[in-house]
Amino acid sequence: MNGKKHRITFIVPAYNEENNIRRFHEETNKTLRGLNNYTCEFVFIDDGSNDSTWQVIKETSNLDSAVKGLRLSRNFGKEMALTAGIIEWTKFSDAVIFMDADLQHPPSVIPKLIQQWELGFQIVTAQRKFIRYPIWREMGSNFFFFMLNRFSKLDIQHKATDFRLLDRKVLEVLQTFPERNRFFRGIIDWMGFKKASITFDSPDRITGKSTFSFNNLFNLAVNSFTSFSLMPLRITGYLGLAVTTASSLLFLYMIITHLVLGLTLFTKLAYFVVFNTLLFGIVLAALGLIALYIGNIHTEVSGRPLYIVQERVGFVDSNLI
Ligand code: UDP
Ligand code: MG
Repeated sequence: MNGKKHRITFIVPAYNEENNIRRFHEETNKTLRGLNNYTCEFVFIDDGSNDSTWQVIKETSNLDSAVKGLRLSRNFGKEMALTAGIIEWTKFSDAVIFMDADLQHPPSVIPKLIQQWELGFQIVTAQRKFIRYPIWREMGSNFFFFMLNRFSKLDIQHKATDFRLLDRKVLEVLQTFPERNRFFRGIIDWMGFKKASITFDSPDRITGKSTFSFNNLFNLAVNSFTSFSLMPLRITGYLGLAVTTASSLLFLYMIITHLVLGLTLFTKLAYFVVFNTLLFGIVLAALGLIALYIGNIHTEVSGRPLYIVQERVGFVDSNLI
């Protein structure tokens, strides 16, 4: 940009990553040394870790002024950690790159992301070539993306990761989103803009365990589904219609066999009980779904902050720019 160096911010959510932060910082810096035309900085977001992650972030920040840290007051989840990174720290950046702290997003891919950005793409996503996750997670993820793409009219890339570069323009828009139940990949694909994607080979995490449990992922899936598609509600509608049709037909059959043909195949009470149970079940299912939506609306409306920052490091001087 007119001879001025572009500024790129790496946003790195970290939950119990005490053993990975330093390695991540070193490895990434090795790659960045080859990129002379950019000013790079790191924002580590300690997402309420129980280990010494924050301590390590502070130490790293003391040694390298390009390292900043944000400490959330509790574990808000990766999506919120990323949101915190964007909102707190993108005023001065020309682009942001999201990366995991466990080196599963290899730094060697960074130049490729930047290259695409220089070509004019405002969102550059990185897709995994292979998924090295447990089979339940792989199957669940396949099913989730299949359903989401089918029913939400969105083309959300499967195997896309959160490893991505976002241009300043995209960030500015993203910051204005009041939405609270965030599913970043969904929102970003929904936004449009000029997009490119590259592929990379995802290694295993260096130390520690993946913190995404079945529960976490299931909740993320349900949340993203209800915020991006009305499909479940529609299915309930169809179900209601089917049940009404079936029950009126059965009712008709009962009347005909009993009144016209004079047969007593089942007691009236049996029919009554079966119907009632069935209808009751349907009503409950519908209520369950409605509850999901109301839950989403509730969190949107309540206006609670998305995250709470407990401490910061390395931010002071940069904010004076
Ligand atoms: N993470 C986070 N908050 C959480 C869970 C994870 O900030 O509640 C971070 C984690 O430290 C890592 C990234 O999100 O940098 C990806 O997490 P993980 O490696 O556990 O997920 P996976 O690679 O299995 O998708
Ligand atoms: Mg990982």
